[in-house]
Amino acid sequence: MPKSRTLFISDLHLSEEYPDTVKIFLNFLKTQARDADALYILGDFFEVWIGDDDQTVFNTQIIQALREFTRTGIPTFFMHGNRDFLIGKHFAKTTGIQLLKEPTIVELYNKPVLLLHGDSLCTLDIKHQKSRKIMHNRFCQKLALMLPLRVRRHYANRLRGVSRNNKNNLAANIMDVIPEEVLRVMKKSNVNTLIHGHTHRPDIHKFSINHQEAQRIVLGAWHHQGSYLQVDEGGAHSLLTC
Ligand code: MN
Repeated sequence: MPKSRTLFISDLHLSEEYPDTVKIFLNFLKTQARDADALYILGDFFEVWIGDDDQTVFNTQIIQALREFTRTGIPTFFMHGNRDFLIGKHFAKTTGIQLLKEPTIVELYNKPVLLLHGDSLCTLDIKHQKSRKIMHNRFCQKLALMLPLRVRRHYANRLRGVSRNNKNNLAANIMDVIPEEVLRVMKKSNVNTLIHGHTHRPDIHKFSINHQEAQRIVLGAWHHQGSYLQVDEGGAHSLLTC
């Protein structure tokens, strides 16, 4: 394992319902992620997050694991997904992670890289884009967090059912990113590398932008196995499983 490397993960969908995934993640923090230069979590880390005040045994276990990890001195960054957009400052403080705005451009071994969760690229999914606007609205978030926990839990369960149905009904191309939108955001940010999750289609897509090599790296979802991107100091990118 090369010493200088940065790791990226997303779409773990951590929940009490899937203890295997939790086990893989806790092990990942102790093995693959140990000694990394940095760890980036690009959204949908939790299957659902209804507010930092939801202090269940499960949430507390994950928070403690993250805190132990960040205490070893590894910078750990977190970008919201469409399922954990209510992760807030309290979570950041107790875990020691740093919240990232979306989009964010980071300097990765001297190269600018654009980071997104990925749902903003699926512009054909009109329904999702509409609810995304509400999810990312600060005022709506504040209102949502004023509701009692049990009400939030009830809505979250209902929304999960709706989202499952939608996924089954939507055509595959609607659920994927739109190439024109990818090019647009990459050109706008002036980067040749984009890293995102959300679509659960892990791959490294190569193409060109203004006659220069460009790449879009899609992170994989976690379930019976984990999935992560390793970028090493020399600039090599590898999608690995654990
Ligand atoms: Mn997502």
